[in-house]
Amino acid sequence: MARRKLVAGNWKMHGLASDIAEVSAIAESAKEYGEVDVALCLPATLIERASRAVPTFAIGGQDVHGAQKGAHTGDISAAMLTDAGAKLTIVGHSERRTDHGESDAAVRAKAETALASGLDVILCVGESLEVRERGDALAVVTAQLEASLPTNDTASFGATGLAVAYEPIWAIGTGKVPSIADIAEMHAALRGRLVAAYGDAGQAVRILYGGSVKASNANEIFGVDDVDGALVGGASLKAEDFLPIVEAAAGR
Ligand code: PEP
Repeated sequence: MARRKLVAGNWKMHGLASDIAEVSAIAESAKEYGEVDVALCLPATLIERASRAVPTFAIGGQDVHGAQKGAHTGDISAAMLTDAGAKLTIVGHSERRTDHGESDAAVRAKAETALASGLDVILCVGESLEVRERGDALAVVTAQLEASLPTNDTASFGATGLAVAYEPIWAIGTGKVPSIADIAEMHAALRGRLVAAYGDAGQAVRILYGGSVKASNANEIFGVDDVDGALVGGASLKAEDFLPIVEAAAGR
């Protein structure tokens, strides 16, 4: 099945008001690649400013609470994200799972609430180096996906409302990337689980690869079956690093 590629940047805890010019530069250049969906997931403090600067470009958050509102100091709700102009959000990034002890159940609740609130969702899964080295990556990551997948009616969020990002923890920010065969094996297994969970609609869910994607490896990674784009950390901070990845996704 042909799926439009999605290239999403994750700025993590980087970015001040002075960096909105970089967001604008990325958004402007991304217009040249109309065949690819491009998004930037920014720190919460920049979402509204960025959304005003580039209203037709997809700005996202990096986390959302599983509850609609309430006594959750420091958290952000789906309504707050959409109110600020966000179109999507990441949930379950390994840095959230590790730094904040987020369980699969919490990640599922976040995804369900975000989708029900009209946000698109990028749901992250991935294994540690220890798990990879003992040969359990497939079993652990597919179990993580099954336990984190939202149970919303697929018709309610449509073909592009949910994306899954396979992000091996040991590949994030390290310059290390799994072999192409390992990426292909994992993405095929995740596709199987998505179809088992959602039927035909599982074919439409995009599966992104994330972990040290850069201009020099993007072409090869995007050539793998069931790699429908990328979640990009470090290389999304500057237009000069990010745009070549978008260009590779466009197949140019
Ligand atoms: C990420 O944190 O989602 C990520 C993929 O980071 P990097 O591209 O820097 O490895």
